[in-house]
Amino acid sequence: MKDLMIKKVIIEKEASGHALTDQILRRIPDIPVQTIEETESKASPDETDMGKETLHLLSYKGEFLKPCPGTREYICCGYQILNVATNCPLDCSYCILQSYFNQPYLKTFVNLEQGVEQVLKVIDSSPDLVFRVGTGEFTDSLAIDPITRWSDWLLPLFSKRKNAVLELKTKTDNIRGLLNSKFRDRIIVSWSLNSPLITAREEHRAVSLKKRLEAARQCQSEGFVLGFHFDPLIPHPKWKEEYTKTLELLDKYIDPKGIIWISLGSLRFMPGLKPIIRRRHPNTCVLDGEFIIGLDGKIRYFKPIRMELYSYMRRNLEKWHPDSGLYLCMESHDVWQKSMGWSPENSNGLRRYLDRRVVEIFG
Ligand code: SF4
Repeated sequence: MKDLMIKKVIIEKEASGHALTDQILRRIPDIPVQTIEETESKASPDETDMGKETLHLLSYKGEFLKPCPGTREYICCGYQILNVATNCPLDCSYCILQSYFNQPYLKTFVNLEQGVEQVLKVIDSSPDLVFRVGTGEFTDSLAIDPITRWSDWLLPLFSKRKNAVLELKTKTDNIRGLLNSKFRDRIIVSWSLNSPLITAREEHRAVSLKKRLEAARQCQSEGFVLGFHFDPLIPHPKWKEEYTKTLELLDKYIDPKGIIWISLGSLRFMPGLKPIIRRRHPNTCVLDGEFIIGLDGKIRYFKPIRMELYSYMRRNLEKWHPDSGLYLCMESHDVWQKSMGWSPENSNGLRRYLDRRVVEIFG
């Protein structure tokens, strides 16, 4: 992330006194702090900034491990989300979190340590299952890691487990905490990539592609397994040339043999997000495509456009390396077959395919 833009901290009463709250406050000593009752946290932030510059510390009462919200109509990978925080200090115009959460601010859960204990019990009680766990679905995994230092204690916990992997997904270059850790086993560091045009125009506050890939190269040279996510793919003028530039950069910086998986997904969102994007990002190009309403009620590109995007990326990625764990996120059997040349048939098939990748890479 370009700058850590936290300008204020709000602490819910229940969160004060937690070790993580004290540690976080020590790392950002000059930022104004306000302590509030729980109910006050529902106050609306300014409509334009969504409270992204306010760090809200609270004790989370829900489940810390949740299945990724897939839908029955499309093939889902069976990923599990470790819910460390919600919302994100970065500001991608297409981000679904703009409409997903009904509460503002960048929320961080200071009872995470206790929550993770429960999560690890679940993992340890099913040694025959493979848990693919990630923190980067409801927030960026590393954007506030310099303040929270989640990586300090999550890496050792997951490194010890033989039936789980932890994926940290980011658009930043905040890798210092990872590199300082001595744990590498069963940790995947992933970067979301897009075309240079989409990156520069739509991924506000994220670092450039070059910086992401320099960080990825450094992680790879220091022994981390990597993942990449081309999601959301967005057709735009000269998109083939633009995505080719990203693939050329990927080739320049990364050894494909150290990649566990590369996902491809295209822009999709609930209809309620559209007016929010228009209001918050009036100059965006992400709404310029030819959309339909999918079987899950989400707006997505017309099927031939999705297949052209995936086929193009697949052909080029396979030329680069024939076995990089390519998969589609939330697509149908028929789109898989026509754009990837094979299909896992259903969600169980995709789970098995990705679980096998875990075993091949980590044993
Ligand atoms: S990095 Fe991810 S979570 Fe953060 S704003 Fe962008 S799309 Fe949303």
